[in-house]
Amino acid sequence: MYDVIVVGGGPAGITAAAIAINQRMDTLVIARKWGGQTEYTMHLENVEGREVIGGEALLDAFRRQLDYLDFVRRFASVEEITPREKHFSVRTDRGERFEGRTLIIATGASPQRLNVPGEERLSGYGLSYSATTHASLFLGKDVAVVGYGRRAQFAVADLARKAHRVYLLAPQPLLETPLVDKIRQMGNVEIFEQVTVKEIGGDRFVESISFTTAQGEEHLLPVKGVFIKLPRKPNSELVQGWVECDERGHIVVDVHCATSWPGVFAAGDVTHVSEQALVHIGEGAKAAISAYQYVLTL
Ligand SMILES: Cc1cc2nc3c(=O)[nH]c(=O)nc-3n(C[C@H](O)[C@H](O)[C@H](O)COP(=O)(O)OP(=O)(O)OC[C@H]3O[C@@H](n4cnc5c(N)ncnc54)[C@H](O)[C@@H]3O)c2cc1C
Repeated sequence: MYDVIVVGGGPAGITAAAIAINQRMDTLVIARKWGGQTEYTMHLENVEGREVIGGEALLDAFRRQLDYLDFVRRFASVEEITPREKHFSVRTDRGERFEGRTLIIATGASPQRLNVPGEERLSGYGLSYSATTHASLFLGKDVAVVGYGRRAQFAVADLARKAHRVYLLAPQPLLETPLVDKIRQMGNVEIFEQVTVKEIGGDRFVESISFTTAQGEEHLLPVKGVFIKLPRKPNSELVQGWVECDERGHIVVDVHCATSWPGVFAAGDVTHVSEQALVHIGEGAKAAISAYQYVLTL
């Protein structure tokens, strides 16, 4: 019986595991992929030396700590978690079963890509998925945000304070919310609704984005940055039905990363806490400390 089973090997899971091991908890980490979604960096023309710290570099210290304690991890997919009396049973796709006194769910969220020409090639070369991380690299430049929900709206509001001009390309009509109302009134924001993005153009770096409107008009906008902010699906299926999730499927946690089910903690993109690797490193640490304190009470 493990003290804690951490499901997920991204920023939240790796940090949670490192902290749990430091507390001498008997720890098992199960992840499909080590490192999670941290393969992002940003290179821009003429801004050498101003790059933000990449996700992998952020995680490195915790990851190296775990690398030499490699007995604690299993590369597998968790298929089922069953709550038992005072413990949890976890089954993987390899048919193994593990028992844990506590659980930390750090399974992340599945991103939605645009799947248009240029997206993959220019990712990290002007194309970003995080305005929080990269908006400040686009001071005084023209940029486009693709999306329609809350994530896209916040990205536009943020970029409008930093960039010269911000185009919001919304594949769906925007719901009228106070934030959308505010965005509509911003002098440097232009909104195109019900568009289909065709291509992100540029040789080494992003130089343009092209799209068609519902009326069939074709547009090509010269931009230095493109931010993809489409809705993401939290990977919370393993606990849905017995742990409280919000209407979009995020696991609801309190300030200690505790969920509605005693002994189950959650951290990272699978929760409703804001999506940023740096934040999730802290959330993972918090979840591990909370799990340790819970074990002390058993
Ligand atoms: C393309 C892209 C660019 C990004 N750019 C930035 C950026 O510039 N700045 C920034 O701060 N953030 C960025 N992010 C967001 C950042 O990567 C995430 O917020 C962060 O990785 C979330 O950490 P996490 O640990 O919650 O989940 P993830 O990193 O998603 O890791 C989830 C882990 O859970 C595992 N897993 C999932 N389900 C199971 C299962 N059933 N069984 C076993 N293992 C499972 C996965 O294998 C993985 O190890 C970006 C994300 C993407 C997709």
